[in-house]
Order: sequence, then structure tokens, then C-alpha cells
Amino acid sequence: MPAVFKGLASQWPAVKKWDFAYLSSLVPDIEVKVVAGNREQGKTHFARSSLKAYLASLQGNELPDKDQLYLKEFDLLEAVPQLKGDLKPNELFPTKAKVAVQSWIGPAGARTGLHHDYLDNLAVEIVGKKRFYLIRPGVVERLGVVSSKYDSWATLAQSTAAELAEGDGKPGDYFFVDLEPGDVLHVPAGWWHEVTNLTPCLLFGGFYGTKTAVNSRWAWVMVRDLLHRMGWLGANNCTCHPAKRMGARSQAT
Ligand SMILES: [Zn+2]
Repeated sequence: MPAVFKGLASQWPAVKKWDFAYLSSLVPDIEVKVVAGNREQGKTHFARSSLKAYLASLQGNELPDKDQLYLKEFDLLEAVPQLKGDLKPNELFPTKAKVAVQSWIGPAGARTGLHHDYLDNLAVEIVGKKRFYLIRPGVVERLGVVSSKYDSWATLAQSTAAELAEGDGKPGDYFFVDLEPGDVLHVPAGWWHEVTNLTPCLLFGGFYGTKTAVNSRWAWVMVRDLLHRMGWLGANNCTCHPAKRMGARSQAT
């Protein structure tokens, strides 16, 4: 079962002192690739932004617009190593686990469509408020709405969590939880989840497992990814390459 640990990271310096104005003031002015819209259920489009300007744009709490730009799976600690001291991941992860820590940074309304990951995840909310919809493993499979869209580290669903919950007669399979700064959520591998920012948010997510589990999963992912890049798996229907647009001007790259 997923579990939420309210306030478990509330003493982290990042939770106490980070906001988007502060982060914008200290990050280097590098270019980042952001995702436009809901690529899990819609088309995959990317845009370019300056990290500094992007963070500055999250300071207000503006109403969400249609094509949310979302900085996802971003290695903030590699881009800004001086921030590492503000996090205490050793307090959370099992000592022998292999961990990959990434950040999800975006405005109110930005979302990640329904999917499940292949590794356990610990999500730590640092800034803002975020809602996780969670669905028991096997439900999307039972309803026959697993998507054929390719993603290297996840399986995607064709529908939203709300659509499934409405049409399904088993309410005990559906959950949601709101995370606030300092809250930690454990999402076990295989649990379906859809995530929406209720305010501008910064979250760290750590995929982890034993060294053996992570390495064997990694090898499997690399093989599939090679097939994908050769065009044999998920061609023009993936979350990693922009969708081809018929007759459209090239807008996002
Ligand atoms: Zn791709």
C-alpha cells in the first residue's frame, strides 16, 4: 500500500527556506527542456526555457493556462550542486538502496497523467501543494485501458483517474492524497498514479530499490529503449520524442 508520512521532511532546510524567488536568484542561467501539456495522455511536445526565468515565473499563483509548461525529471542537484546540503535523503532511503533523485517543478494545474512506474518511489514535497490520485495495481489492466504509448520507465493509461473512478463500481480501489511542504509519499511500483499541482510546486522524487533490482530493471529498460530508438517499439508514440504534426509550423522542439 502507498503510505503518506505527514511532515517527515519538515525539518529539511529546503522545506524551511526554499521558494521560487530564492531559487531563481541563485540558479545559473542555463537552458532547460520543459514538457508542454499532458504528454502521458495527450501528444508529446517540448519547449525550451531558461531555468532562471522559468523559476521566476512560478512566483505568482496565476490561474493555470491550457498548455502548462512543466520541468519534469530534472536533475536540479546536478545543475545547482550547492543546493544538496538543503536535502537529507539519507534520512529517508534504506541504507543499501540505489536511488535516483529527480525534481518535478511546475505551475498550478500542471499534471502528470495516469501511469505506474517500474520502481518504488519516495516523493518529498518541498514547495507548494500537490494532489496524488492513486489506483490499485491491476485496475487499469482490468478495465482494458492500458496505453500503447511508450515510456522508458513507466506504463501509461489511456484514461484519467477521474474517468476511471466514475465508471468503475469499485470505489475501494481509488484514493487521493494532498501533499504539503515536508510531506513524504511512498508509491510502490505498480501502483497507478496521476499527479496535479494545486499550487506552483517543487517536488523531489526518488526511485529506488536494491542494487540487484535496480540494475536488472535498468538493463531491461535499456534494451527496450534501444528498440524504441531503432523504431521497432513505440515509434512516433512516446513520451520522449516530440509528436510529428501534420502540416503544423514547428513550434516546440
Ligand atoms: Zn521516444
